[in-house]
This record gives sequence, structure tokens and C-alpha cells, in this order.
Amino acid sequence: MTQPSLLDVPHLADIARARAALAPRLYAIVSATNSLRAAWESLHNAGLFAEPVGRFYASVRRFGMDGTLDALFTYDRLDAIRAFVEGPREPQVPRVSVSTLSNQFYCEMQVHLARTHSLRTESVELAAGAAGHAAFEAEAEEISPEEITRAISAGEPLELVEMPLSAELHGVRLVGRADRIHLEGRRARLVLEFKFSGRRELFPSHVVQVEAYGRMLEANSFNTERLLHCVAVLPRGRKVTDGLAAEIAARAVAAAGEGLSAIDNRAPAGQPDPLAGLTFRRVDDEAFGLWVFRHHRARAERDLAWALQYWAGHRAPEGTVSRGKCKACHFNAANLCDAAKAPPDGRYAVKRTEGRYGVLHVVQPSMAKR
Ligand code: SF4
Repeated sequence: MTQPSLLDVPHLADIARARAALAPRLYAIVSATNSLRAAWESLHNAGLFAEPVGRFYASVRRFGMDGTLDALFTYDRLDAIRAFVEGPREPQVPRVSVSTLSNQFYCEMQVHLARTHSLRTESVELAAGAAGHAAFEAEAEEISPEEITRAISAGEPLELVEMPLSAELHGVRLVGRADRIHLEGRRARLVLEFKFSGRRELFPSHVVQVEAYGRMLEANSFNTERLLHCVAVLPRGRKVTDGLAAEIAARAVAAAGEGLSAIDNRAPAGQPDPLAGLTFRRVDDEAFGLWVFRHHRARAERDLAWALQYWAGHRAPEGTVSRGKCKACHFNAANLCDAAKAPPDGRYAVKRTEGRYGVLHVVQPSMAKR
């Protein structure tokens, strides 16, 4: 008996024709969504990617967006793909995640180039952060949305882990998941973010991230008058013990109890510096470093308004003025940035390959000691 050849597989030619005709447009539509979450939502709602969002993230990490979209081309999905690509499209409010927005305070041009170019790199920081967050999440008990609503209405204290938040601000939909939020009914008490880093330091992006969650809580009718923000920096790879998150929260509240004001004495124009004039208390423990500060509506509003202007299309992206950041920049190594203030570190290895939808730049950090 002869084996069937590949060409005998049913519908193979149909799939190949559909892929050639529809894949570039599908790729363009999905790329224009600005965030992976929004990309998943549009594919999920169109019946093209039935699995949960985590599977989508994992697929993009492993196979890239090209590979993930290519895998959608099965015979039983062709009609749905055609309808998605050729059907009418509602004008959409621009959308950005809190973590992407906070990266604008490192270098906005990097955020812009990540949207417009296909570039892959490796990051020890990201891997450590993902592992640490998974450990914190594992400690939390499941609680249903109905239970949350009931507790909020009853004014009960609630400690929520990975709480999804969304709000439309300045014509842009801002979405995110706060690591930990403590509520007392409709009063927001604490926003707590964990960072896993070799450097025990508070960065502008950390401040903006918690400010954004505070502002989103406000937009969702929570009272933020007494809201505390807390950023906890833990060493990369540190084993997370049970109850550490609760201990950090208690230390933050105790530190704030020693007195903490919220002021805004920053200059009113240009790119805001979220650290300028920030009044905080710092707690240094063997296991973590903590920064605690009060939510200040005007500060949060100024930082977010500047960042969201870019997403609303009101201004072009701005590059950093830091020569050090440009030197260490992957986009600079791949020769993609016209705003670079210094040449890239020559020890990056850059490979350019013809991806299905354009040039794919793969940048590998130098393994040499610095
Ligand atoms: S080279 Fe400098 S300005 Fe350009 S994206 Fe990189 S860090 Fe930003």
C-alpha cells in the first residue's frame, strides 16, 4: 500500500491559498491592536483563538506572532478568518497596558519601536519577574467576582491579588492587573507592586505603574483619599516564602503610619519625572526593599496625561536623553532608532532574517562580563 503524499492531505491547497491571500492582512490587523491582550481579545471574540489569554502569551513567546497567527490557518477556521479580515471593523479606542505605559518613562521611543518592528531578544529580568509573580499568585485563594462585589458592598476589607483594572482616560483605554490591592468597601487602601531586580532602586516606571492603578481605581468610583502606594523590590531568583506579601503590606502600612505627606512641586511642562519631589518612606529588610508613598491625584494625572498623549496620537514618540540607555538599547544595536544619543554597545550580536511579514531582528545580549 502506498503512503499518501502531503498533497493528498484534504484541503491543503485551500489552506495554502487562504494563507497567501489573508495572512498579511490578518497580521496587520492584529499588530495594530497595540497590546497582546487586545490582540488575544480580538482573535478570541472572532472565534479564532478559543484558548485563554495565557496560552496566547505563551504561544507568542515561543513561536512569535508570525508563528502564532500561521497556526490559526486550519481548514475549519478559514471562513472565520475571512470574515474577520474582510468584515467591517468598529473604530476602536486606542488601548494600552499599564506595564507598557510605565515603560515610556524609561524610553518612549523603545515602546514605539517595539510596536513597529519585529525584534526578539532575551531577558534574565523578565524570566525572574514571571517566576516571582507566579509564586505570589499561588499563595492567593480563589475568590469569585460575586464574592468581591458582595464584600465591596458590605464595606468589608478585601485583599485582591492580580486584580484586573480598566479605565478610559484621555481617550485611551488603560488596562492592567495590579499585583495586590487592599480595599475596605469602596475605599482603596493599598496598591502593592512587586519588582524582581538585582538593583534595589525605585525607578520612575515603578512609580507610574502604581499611580496608574490608583487613577484607575478612582475612575472606577473607589475613594483614593487615603490610598497608599507601595513598591517592593526583591532580589532576582529569591525563594518567595508564604506570607511574605502580607508581611510587606503590614510593613508598608506601619511605615506610612510614621507620617507621610503627598506633595507635587514639579515643574509643569515637558516629560514629567515621576520621582521629582516624591515624598516617600523607605524600608530596608534583608529580604526586600520597600518604597511607600501616598496617592496624589495631580501627580498621577500629570504623568498619565503625558504618556497617554502618545497613544491618543497627539504627539510623536520622544527618545530618552540618556546616553547610557542608548548604549544598552537593543533597537539601537539593530540600527532602528534615529533618535539615539550614543552608539550601541558593540558586543551585542544582531541577526537579521527575512520573517514572513518583514525583517526580523534578533538581538542577543553579550555574554561577555561587563
Ligand atoms: S537608542 Fe536611545 S532613544 Fe533610541 S530607542 Fe534606544 S534608548 Fe530610546
